Amino acid sequence: MNQAILPGAAVGVLGSGQLGRMFAIAARRMGYRVHVLSPDADTPTGQVADVEVSALYEDLDAVRAFARRVAVVTFEFENVPAATAAAAAEFAPVRPAGRVLHVTQDRAREKAFLAAAGIPVAPFRVVETVEALDAAVVDVGLPAILKTASFGYDGKGQVRIDHSEAVAAAWDAVGGRTSVLEGVVDFEREVSVVAARGLDGSFVHYGVVENRHANHILDLTIAPAGVPEALAREAERLACAVVEALDVVGVLCVEMFVTRDARLLVNELAPRPHNSGHFTFDACVTSQFEQQLRAVCGLPFGSPRQLVPAAMANLLGGLWQHGEPDWCAACAFPSVKLHLYGKASARPGRKMGHLTAMAGTGDEAARIVIAARAALTQGRDMTVGEAHG
Ligand code: AMP
Repeated sequence: MNQAILPGAAVGVLGSGQLGRMFAIAARRMGYRVHVLSPDADTPTGQVADVEVSALYEDLDAVRAFARRVAVVTFEFENVPAATAAAAAEFAPVRPAGRVLHVTQDRAREKAFLAAAGIPVAPFRVVETVEALDAAVVDVGLPAILKTASFGYDGKGQVRIDHSEAVAAAWDAVGGRTSVLEGVVDFEREVSVVAARGLDGSFVHYGVVENRHANHILDLTIAPAGVPEALAREAERLACAVVEALDVVGVLCVEMFVTRDARLLVNELAPRPHNSGHFTFDACVTSQFEQQLRAVCGLPFGSPRQLVPAAMANLLGGLWQHGEPDWCAACAFPSVKLHLYGKASARPGRKMGHLTAMAGTGDEAARIVIAARAALTQGRDMTVGEAHG
């Protein structure tokens, strides 16, 4: 029987962005101490943590010293190097385990894992040479998307190939690195399931939500998704199968496509709280961040029940292009909650915060959250911009 790590203990987080910040808020609310390690200073997580350590992930002595001072280590950023997780594990349990990072931080390994576990995915081939890419194009068919195996997120390191003449240029565009060629899915919509699994194998999930992207970055989440019951149950079953097969202790998000013929194909896994689960902070009995804390500390899960339909809209850096957004205008929507991550510079495309709206239906919440976001820049000269960005 595992001993629970109780309030008052220190929890270590590798990575210092907004996911760590919201995790730290949940942890501090329950009386835990939070230590964070990342290469940066005055970070979104560091601003609300008890202790902020600025060190490279490759500085294994710093990682060991960090792990010595905490009861458990988790992460909010899945590209933490394997050696970093291993060094931390010498002094504290790392949850989810380094093995989960190993699978999910490489698209080729992740696809192979999913296919071996019988989880439906788009047709794909792993390619290591331009010749292999030529052959893969024949197998997978066009159009297809070439994605680098490592360090890709929010559409980075991806090139669409529409014609066979474009193959060589696509290979150059990914820097000739090991990549996955994937058939373009003609999807009807994108959905995800955020799930959590405990040390004792207990499982909770937040149901299926709909995700709309702009420029490959999540723009809007509607919870719950308006999908048929049978499809929702199947998506939940797939999420459960993934966390079981990976033996996850913590939160994991499964992103999926719903094809036009109503099949589910898994696109990507994120072994941590996810942007599409931010609505849980305001709209559920227990947020995804608190479930992550409970999972890694060996506490029983709180109810994931959603109390009210909700929609979440990201606030990207482009909103700042004509000056500080009008926060009072968004706060004038009484059912909208404002979340800002404490980032100093608003670069285009950078996730600076989000809004969550709650209403009688998901669609109504979406209308409200979009209106509240538009109000942030109304009256400004918004000529061009990122697509809501
Ligand atoms: P990813 O980085 O793999 O999550 O991709 C980012 C976004 O690109 C997804 O959310 C989709 O909108 C789009 N995308 C990725 N892979 C495919 C695919 N095989 N077919 C169609 N759209 C895709």
